[in-house]
Amino acid sequence: MIELIDVSKLYDQKTHALHHVSFKVDAGEFVFLIGESGAGKSTMIKLLTREERPTSGTVILDNFDVSRMKKKFVPFLRRKIGMVFQDFRLIESKTVFENVAFAMEIVGAPKDLIERRVPIVLSVVGLRHKEDNYPSELSGGEAQRVAIARAMVNNPRLILADEPTGNLDRHNSEAIMALLDDINKAGTTVVACTHDLEMVERMNKRVIELHRGRVIRDDPPSILADPAQNMVPVHPQISSEMRELLDDDQYRVASEEILVENAQEFYVPDINELRQQVTSDSRRRRHPKINSRRQINEESRDNNGQ
Ligand code: ADP
Repeated sequence: MIELIDVSKLYDQKTHALHHVSFKVDAGEFVFLIGESGAGKSTMIKLLTREERPTSGTVILDNFDVSRMKKKFVPFLRRKIGMVFQDFRLIESKTVFENVAFAMEIVGAPKDLIERRVPIVLSVVGLRHKEDNYPSELSGGEAQRVAIARAMVNNPRLILADEPTGNLDRHNSEAIMALLDDINKAGTTVVACTHDLEMVERMNKRVIELHRGRVIRDDPPSILADPAQNMVPVHPQISSEMRELLDDDQYRVASEEILVENAQEFYVPDINELRQQVTSDSRRRRHPKINSRRQINEESRDNNGQ
């Protein structure tokens, strides 16, 4: 899912944010990224989302070479990622429903799919009853649950959470972590940066620790941990609805196809084979984005029987 190969990042030719970092995260893993302030955690996230490029080394995400990808393909890459931030980053002028729906609108999802998925995802995070409220009317824990709903509504391959519990009390932090754990158990890879070492201890996941830009620890979950210590979902309805949502592969596949069709040059395995395929399909080469998106939207409408 993620591979960093000898990645270094130098800001302003003097600040070494990352030094020769290499690690791999498999699909379906839950990984905590820890380290003191300034250790390089945010830089790592920014490299994965292509907000920053490495000074040297390679960043691979779901078989795409993120470090060398052209700027115009970055939006397609970002569809693979659901982001969760410490400060929630909800749009204050939109309701809860509209905030989540907006994430689907910007990737061109059809209206009927939006109206079907947003209520489900809000139920998953236990906030269906708040769909008409505005962010200013929510508690911190609720706002972060909306942010998680928004992050997962497009069925991303990966959820990147940057200090997701940094502004929350202990009760809400547990609820958020339990939710991320549930999303992970339903198949989505999760990488979470955190300062909350007590939480890391209790969650018993793989831990990668950075210190001054270097990986100084990479521990797998302890197999000796008592499973009873693991937190249980706060909302009992989560599991069945989560599964329903994440099993909706039609939507994920649609996003994937758009990405593959538009980013052949950056697909790491069989890159030459892909290039040849594309060259032989001149029609697709002429209007890749428009054709594929329209076709996928139409197909998903047809498949929904609407
Ligand atoms: P963390 O998220 O672990 O607190 P960061 O990745 O934000 O760490 O920062 C790592 C180092 O890189 C720090 O020394 C920080 O000051 C520096 N840094 C981060 N972003 C920038 C930037 N845009 N320009 C210059 N230096 C930066």
